[in-house]
Amino acid sequence: MADIIQLLPDHVANQIAAGEVVQRPASVVKELLENAIDAGADTIKLIIKDAGKTLVQVIDNGKGMSPTDARLSFERHATSKIKSAEDLFQLHTKGFRGEALASIAAIAHVELKTKQASNDVGNTLVIEGSHVVSQDVVVTPTGTSVAVKNLFFNIPARRNFLKSDTVELRHVVDEFYRVALAHPSISFVMYNNGSESFNLPISNYRQRIVNIFGNKTNEKLVPVDEDTEVLKISGFVGKPEFAKKSRGEQYFFVNDRFIKSAYLNHAIASAFEGLLKPGMHASYFLNLQVDPQSIDINIHPTKTEIKFDDEHTLYAILRAAVKHSLGQFNIAPVLDFERDPNLDTPYNYKETVISTPKVEVDRSFNPFNDASQPAVSSTQRSSHTSSFSRQEGHKSSSDWEGLYVGLESKSNESEADFSEVEFESEEETLSIFNGDHQVEQTHTTYQLHNKYIVSTIKSGMLIIDQFRAHQRVLYEEFLRNMTSREGVSQQLLFPLQLHFSPQDIDIVNQLKADLEHTGFVFSNVDEELVEITGVPVNVPESEVSIILEQLISDVEHEVPDSNFSATDLLAKSMAKSLAIKTGQSLQKDEQEHLVNKLFACKDPNVSPANRVTFVTMSVDELDKKFI
Ligand code: ADP
Ligand code: MG
Repeated sequence: MADIIQLLPDHVANQIAAGEVVQRPASVVKELLENAIDAGADTIKLIIKDAGKTLVQVIDNGKGMSPTDARLSFERHATSKIKSAEDLFQLHTKGFRGEALASIAAIAHVELKTKQASNDVGNTLVIEGSHVVSQDVVVTPTGTSVAVKNLFFNIPARRNFLKSDTVELRHVVDEFYRVALAHPSISFVMYNNGSESFNLPISNYRQRIVNIFGNKTNEKLVPVDEDTEVLKISGFVGKPEFAKKSRGEQYFFVNDRFIKSAYLNHAIASAFEGLLKPGMHASYFLNLQVDPQSIDINIHPTKTEIKFDDEHTLYAILRAAVKHSLGQFNIAPVLDFERDPNLDTPYNYKETVISTPKVEVDRSFNPFNDASQPAVSSTQRSSHTSSFSRQEGHKSSSDWEGLYVGLESKSNESEADFSEVEFESEEETLSIFNGDHQVEQTHTTYQLHNKYIVSTIKSGMLIIDQFRAHQRVLYEEFLRNMTSREGVSQQLLFPLQLHFSPQDIDIVNQLKADLEHTGFVFSNVDEELVEITGVPVNVPESEVSIILEQLISDVEHEVPDSNFSATDLLAKSMAKSLAIKTGQSLQKDEQEHLVNKLFACKDPNVSPANRVTFVTMSVDELDKKFI
């Protein structure tokens, strides 16, 4: 009988390998960023279009490649990083398999430009589905640019399998965070659809964390430093009072590589024992430096797990180090409005057991009293109140005494703690308009690059990120609706039928009650079909399926355990889907409305994802620039 075994042609083998290495645009981001770091770059630019589906480009100022290496780099198992098996145990680079570029080139259109410092000109190479289309000499700066276009162009099934842009972008940003956090000594810039989303200068670790997660993170961080023979730990843990319901901000890096380790995570959780409420997760950003010989990372290319020789010792040292830091910095849960009212107030009154905060209230304060009224025009004023009145009815000044009383009484189990939310909202509103930030009677707004809204304030100017600001506004609105269960819904002319997988239906069922509180009306949910007859006002019918898809994926993506706050996630997710996006032009009155709504929020300073919503620039600062 004839022989039947054949060697697969390279491009087929590469396509198969690509299935392992490249699952989604974020995988490409990871591989390209890591190559740039391995090339010794100190400035790295990431450019994303359509969540990476159309373009992922990484430009670095690293050492570049010779013309021959440029061609070779796309061959499978072509690497400059190891020469023999022994090198595997002394890894100082991210890459070593020599698979990434070959795999990526098998399933996308790739354009490489690269130049070494010693050469005057560089080389450019175009490869489409493993076939070299062209190689030319080109004038280009020292370093390398790899542009990956039309991912999965030749595998439609994989392309269709990709999630919505929002979800894919989330993965891309997660990957970007991981790499950027591991390398504060490299400057990173990320552009998404033409606008800059991150600009992270070279800095120390604390600054890098703050630059990514927002200014407020700074005060949450407790340093951890431990230097032992087997392990060097540096980094930060989040103070217990800032613990989260989701595991979002938990980062371990081993020798500058992001890893996941349930075991080490447990070490930290146990160091926090007694300091956290059940179901809450502490944040951490920890770098572990170990002897490369004592770890084994030679497993699956996309896996973030790692094997340590002596896990028990690491566990003990890590736990002790974190405990020590928490003790040393005298961390005890504090709820004190004086310190920072924005950060301490949990939203989910109906789900959370809340200990009554110590509040110092100025009882003589009356916001409707002219003398203490902030300098806001009456129309603005009424628009603040009207944003609350849908849920709560307009509060006359005499209601205010009642609000204070509500705050005094113990109100742990009550669902009707809404008065607190209201009270804080108003208080926050006032404080932002006080003193320095006082808004002029005749303030005008204008829109910059369809992205920012600029307005005058007494001390100078205010610049608001429209997308983040609107998310904040919507987020608080949805939370209020859900907490008060008073979302208003609009009836659909024809019921909307949406198909989902059984797993996704499970999630819909889980969130159904909360969705109903926002104004959704479900006439039927069976094994794979959801029928909707009503949606919240302001939610266009065309957005419904996107919102649900986003929501389901957020739940899948974000929340591994059952202790999550469905309401919070739902509100965040819907706010994200529905907010005015960057690039959308706004009328004058829309701009003003957004500004006013933002400052009527309980926590106007940050978006639901904890990113800065606005910055101010004082006349003094401007003056300095004109010296
Ligand atoms: P690996 O990173 O595992 O070696 P890759 O397929 O990612 O494999 O890259 C193959 C080779 O191409 C690398 O070993 C390196 O020599 C070269 N290379 C890739 N990206 C860059 C870059 N940005 N700058 C310089 N050389 C690079
Ligand atoms: Mg690589």
